[in-house]
Amino acid sequence: MAGENAPKEKQAVADEPGANSPDIIIIGAGLAGLTAAHYLTANGIRNFKILEARNRIGGRIMTITLGTQRIELGANWIHGVLGNPIYEYALANKLVDITIDKKPHNVIASTEQGKKIPITVLQEVYEQYFWFYKKCEDYFVSKQRPTTESVGQKMEADIANYLSGFSASEAAVRKMIFVHLLNRETCISGCDSMDEIDLADFGAYSELPGGNLTIPLGFSSILNSLISNLKTEECILKDHPVSRIRWKLSDGTVEVECENGEIYHSKHVIVTIPLGVLKAKHEQLFEPALPDDKIHAIEKLGFGIVDKIFLEYERPFLHPDISEVINLWNPIENDNDVGKSWFKKIYSFMKISDTLYLAWLSGREAEHAESITAEEIADVCTNILRQFLNDPYVPKPIRVVRTRWLSEPYTRGSYTSIRTGSKQSDIENLAKPIYVHPSDTKVCTKPTLLFAGEATHPTFFSTTHGAFVSGKCAAELLLDSSKGCVSNVDSQNSEMMSSWVEGLSLN
Ligand SMILES: Cc1cc2nc3c(=O)[nH]c(=O)nc-3n(C[C@H](O)[C@H](O)[C@H](O)COP(=O)(O)OP(=O)(O)OC[C@H]3O[C@@H](n4cnc5c(N)ncnc54)[C@H](O)[C@@H]3O)c2cc1C
Repeated sequence: MAGENAPKEKQAVADEPGANSPDIIIIGAGLAGLTAAHYLTANGIRNFKILEARNRIGGRIMTITLGTQRIELGANWIHGVLGNPIYEYALANKLVDITIDKKPHNVIASTEQGKKIPITVLQEVYEQYFWFYKKCEDYFVSKQRPTTESVGQKMEADIANYLSGFSASEAAVRKMIFVHLLNRETCISGCDSMDEIDLADFGAYSELPGGNLTIPLGFSSILNSLISNLKTEECILKDHPVSRIRWKLSDGTVEVECENGEIYHSKHVIVTIPLGVLKAKHEQLFEPALPDDKIHAIEKLGFGIVDKIFLEYERPFLHPDISEVINLWNPIENDNDVGKSWFKKIYSFMKISDTLYLAWLSGREAEHAESITAEEIADVCTNILRQFLNDPYVPKPIRVVRTRWLSEPYTRGSYTSIRTGSKQSDIENLAKPIYVHPSDTKVCTKPTLLFAGEATHPTFFSTTHGAFVSGKCAAELLLDSSKGCVSNVDSQNSEMMSSWVEGLSLN
């Protein structure tokens, strides 16, 4: 057996009986892992350990303070209200304020030459874009076979058709607005270009109604609430990167080895490691290798780079009523030289407060920005703002805080997308729990390896609610495996359940 090759000299430091053999191991203390822990505890199961690689909890949720303001380096919004389980959780725990007055969103849309574009033109293109976008989503619902492979190709064709009805100069301005919207879309979808996103399954992502909501005390307040019923010192082991998961030992347990040499055994392991890390490490992490359908999913699904750049200023410089500066760039001549043109992917500067702005960046350009200094980023952003606002007195920011989600070894990207060459079914395959029956019995009712995290939710992938539901489902499967978890797959029925069962004799 593979597990017999485990280095015998490495042993966990057990400071209490059973400390290295809990009933359940959860790998990762991000939202999915902490949600699973929360629901296990709420149902009376306390003998579990969470092994977390970083020295903090939260993963892609990270609220920090910048000056006097709270900012989110990862998740910021609760996307949608109706039917959103994380909204319901936040509401039940008094973490959201539904009476918040939303300020009107006023924008300036400007070209590189500092020329302002009328809002009516902006509205016209936004509206048109919305319909093109909906058309792309419809393929999934109607099961109609698209004639092009990617969302980008379809959009490009629709946009070209639309622009053909305008004069050259009118079309050029509108094209710049479409490019701005497509760049924004790459940050939402988590990709470099919409050419990467599969058209047939674009509508698989389910958008919940109710708009986007922020959490007054920061997204981290959800984490604090989730861990409030845990004995965190005992059950969350930070600085414990898992290096090997031996999941087919002859005694039916899983052996989890950490980089520090500690070894844990358990009958059930919930893996919430982000897709980016799985892509880079699944071969080293799992012994034996994962089933082919999981490997296929890990390799084919997208895990794009999306980064944020926060610019803090000493004094306000924009009219208080303006909340966003939209950048309408001239077409890029040579987009192979990312080093020279990376900043042209910055589609806007969003005002968070009068002295704090946020720019988003995706794909290759985000990757490049991760490799340069904050000082360089500050200079470039200052030049852009001066140019687009036609105002040489726009000050330099006093501080730049930017994320580097690709360079983070325990994330290696930002979030999941259904890339061309992958399908929603790949997410379902990644989510399938693995049942390994112990050789001395023929019965196994609870899964051995469970997979949770945003990448495992077939309709809410890329979001906090996806991570939340997946963590809750993993806990539910272990609490009552006969129940299954309805929300983790679209149409879970007994037939589907049986296809999830590996190594289990059904008769
Ligand atoms: C820039 C950005 C903006 C976002 N904005 C939003 C938003 O506005 N709204 C929204 O709903 N979602 C948003 N998201 C997505 C959201 O943050 C994620 O979907 C969600 O937080 C993922 O939770 P998770 O538990 O699946 O993964 P993670 O939070 O990544 O947790 C996984 C955990 O596993 C740990 N880990 C990794 N490898 C190992 C290992 N080998 N051993 C042990 N531990 C390991 C990690 O350190 C991490 O703590 C955003 C994400 C990013 C990056």
